[in-house]
Amino acid sequence: MAKGGWRAPVVTQALEGCYILREGKRLLSFASNDYLGLSQHPEVIRASQLATETYGAGAGASRLVSGNHPLIAQLEEALARFKGMEAACVFGSGYLANLGALRTLVERDDLVVADKLIHASLVDAAMTTRATLLRFRHNDISMAEELLAKHRSSYRNCLIVVDGVYSMDGDRARLPDLSSLCKKYESWLMVDDAHGFGILGNGRGTAESFEPAIRPEIAMGSFSKAAGSYGGYLAGSATLMQALHNHARSLIFSTGLPPAAVAASLAAIGVMQAQPQLCGRPLKLAQYFTGAMGMPRAQSAIVPLIVGESAQALMLSQRLQEKGFFLPAIRPPAVPQGTARLRAAFTALHDETQIDALVKALKQLDLQCAD
Ligand SMILES: *Cc1c(COP(=O)(O)O)cnc(C)c1O
Repeated sequence: MAKGGWRAPVVTQALEGCYILREGKRLLSFASNDYLGLSQHPEVIRASQLATETYGAGAGASRLVSGNHPLIAQLEEALARFKGMEAACVFGSGYLANLGALRTLVERDDLVVADKLIHASLVDAAMTTRATLLRFRHNDISMAEELLAKHRSSYRNCLIVVDGVYSMDGDRARLPDLSSLCKKYESWLMVDDAHGFGILGNGRGTAESFEPAIRPEIAMGSFSKAAGSYGGYLAGSATLMQALHNHARSLIFSTGLPPAAVAASLAAIGVMQAQPQLCGRPLKLAQYFTGAMGMPRAQSAIVPLIVGESAQALMLSQRLQEKGFFLPAIRPPAVPQGTARLRAAFTALHDETQIDALVKALKQLDLQCAD
């Protein structure tokens, strides 16, 4: 374990709205990825209950054997339509989807060019392949191009991998520039949109939030965040889906999702489609917060408050808990040394009054943000 010490999960119970119960204390949480509150939505809950009653509690086998229950095909179709992609493939989780994608797309003699701050699951996924992994400084398009200019021609296929929204920084990938690089250097673009799906681009995701919309070859996302459920997906061409069914070991050698989770995700997409203003709400509230704090305008539902040292971040998180707010201290190795931070995530269940109260508490702590 790196510097920063051992950590252990703290029992946390969801209460009403954005409140949680932690170590006996009721706190207003800014730490949930349930961005639209859909884990508590009556239609989503009802759909999952009905699926359990109809199909049982578990899938019973891998999707390639007998675990491919009818709801999975419905979810894949609904998702592909919502994303405007040809087809989609549902995995047990986002982590498993990333493993499956990289394993299928690249092998020996292939190149992966990735942002320095991509999610840990993508790094793990790249490590399980025999492809060469090169990283560029966060959102540094010139450095990405330098790597491609120097190395692209030595490899067969090339995959550029980025997060749509960076989970610890809250900023977006520069997808239009990256998409141009992909054309110029004959590469595929893969976007992990765990934190953009359901929120940006009327819920469709980060790529769809640009004008014109960007169309990556591989769109990845999680149902465990804004969809309030559980599972992961990859969307792209029908040919890619066929390849996944045959090469993605994390799909082939792992049990299909429980029907309840699939039905909940399907219902969640229904809510997203019907209520684009609900999808837009977390970003609006994040921007309300950055406005009140005098910070650069939020680009997603996530706003980091960078404080520097781990001890300082932990102390500030503790002081906020004493005032009734939960903002986790994120520290190395999750983020680079010297950039420990408090991380605020805004959801459609928050309101402006609660954010005003948080801003007041932060100002009382005289938070010095090294922005
Ligand atoms: C959460 C997350 C994942 C993993 O998704 P799960 O469904 O939780 O396994 C992958 N990438 C990013 C950027 C994430 O934030």
